[in-house]
Amino acid sequence: MTITPAPIDGADIVIVGAGILGLAVAWALGRALGTGGARSVLVVDRHPPSTQATARAAALLTRARGDAATAALVRDTYTAITSLEEELGEDLGLRRVGTLHVAASGARVDSLRTLVAAGTDPVDWLDGDGAARLAPCLSAEAVERAAFMPLDGFIDPMRLADAYRRSARHAGVRISTGLSVQAIRVERGRVAGICTDRGFIAAPVVVNAAGAWAAGLAWSAGVGLPQAPVRSQYWITEPRPDMFPRDLPVLVMPDAGAYARPELGALLFGLRGRRSLALDPARLPHDTAGLDLDDSDGGLETLEEGWQALARLCPPLLQAGIAHYVSGLSTYTADGRFVLGPVPEVEGLFMATGCCGAGIAASGGIGRAVAAAVLGQPGPVDLAPFAPGRLGALDPFSPALRGACAAARSGKTGG
Ligand SMILES: Cc1cc2nc3c(=O)[nH]c(=O)nc-3n(C[C@H](O)[C@H](O)[C@H](O)COP(=O)(O)OP(=O)(O)OC[C@H]3O[C@@H](n4cnc5c(N)ncnc54)[C@H](O)[C@@H]3O)c2cc1C
Repeated sequence: MTITPAPIDGADIVIVGAGILGLAVAWALGRALGTGGARSVLVVDRHPPSTQATARAAALLTRARGDAATAALVRDTYTAITSLEEELGEDLGLRRVGTLHVAASGARVDSLRTLVAAGTDPVDWLDGDGAARLAPCLSAEAVERAAFMPLDGFIDPMRLADAYRRSARHAGVRISTGLSVQAIRVERGRVAGICTDRGFIAAPVVVNAAGAWAAGLAWSAGVGLPQAPVRSQYWITEPRPDMFPRDLPVLVMPDAGAYARPELGALLFGLRGRRSLALDPARLPHDTAGLDLDDSDGGLETLEEGWQALARLCPPLLQAGIAHYVSGLSTYTADGRFVLGPVPEVEGLFMATGCCGAGIAASGGIGRAVAAAVLGQPGPVDLAPFAPGRLGALDPFSPALRGACAAARSGKTGG
């Protein structure tokens, strides 16, 4: 006997993707609409919530960003964490250790000054000795100047995503997993709903928060997104609390193309590498856990290439063994900006994607901004710089676009 699953009721707003961005949009919609709100919201995902990119993030919540709009979205995440903690009555484990932006050359000091001047957050400038006092694993001689931003921190990404999910559920948002979306159906220029492996679900509004799969899904509605799935990776040393104390600040070291943070007495460090690996969004398997992201090199090429510059700044790394390698798919855009807001050619279609390796950091702001756009209300930032069509018509599966997105990741210097 075969059991036919019950059809799923339509909703006023459907969000595809229960990673942190889809859940943050659901949270913000839930807050705006209130319990028993005037419009129903449904989140769908083929997997349990937050098991793809979100599960693998290093989850630095770095405030210093190159532009005011992105910085505002990150600041909103800190506000979101406070408000979720109040609502849920629990501590979400934000580790407010601060970020130490390290410059190893005069030229880098200048670019660091420009970076922190763009924001309004407090900054302490330190020389090499001051930096090494704060982060004893740093070499005082290798540091020219460093900017310490004490309000920064990092968080367990699954815990934050789950807090968005629970708050959304309390507000009446439905979440349906084990459901694969095959296409967004568009009729006469407006969204009609989604086609899934369990039938059609009617919805006049669809938010595409499908992460690495968002470009493929958008293409089903005739929309080309300027983004590609790009490998992000980090390593974790063996536990050495003598070298890497738990209260170590987050370290951003652009001269080495690296970042690091404490991880239970070990050091978690990421390297960007000169050649990032971008994948064809048309050929992604449904589950990145089964994807051979190690590719041919297991991250070794990046490690070999970046190791010396990193060890010059952080010499104890030469004595600590590496215990873990973690890789996953972020979604980078050609210009390094998120893809957020309405698609003018298709009424009712919105994007919450193109995370550029900062989706955890900006989740609260992205959730609020996209929810406001969906509801036609003023949001926390102007979404024009993040408009899905800002780079014009393009082929989301072209090798040229993949190359540009990989270069955006390799060239990243912030947290
Ligand atoms: C190694 C690594 C380190 C990182 N470090 C940081 C960091 O320090 N700070 C930071 O802010 N960010 C970091 N990131 C980036 C961060 O993980 C992402 O920005 C964030 O998780 C993106 O969330 P998302 O919701 O867009 O994607 P995801 O978490 O991947 O969620 C997308 C969801 O959509 C679902 N889906 C897709 N297509 C369909 C479909 N057709 N039908 C049904 N469901 C579908 C998927 O199953 C998935 O659950 C890192 C990422 C990696 C890989």
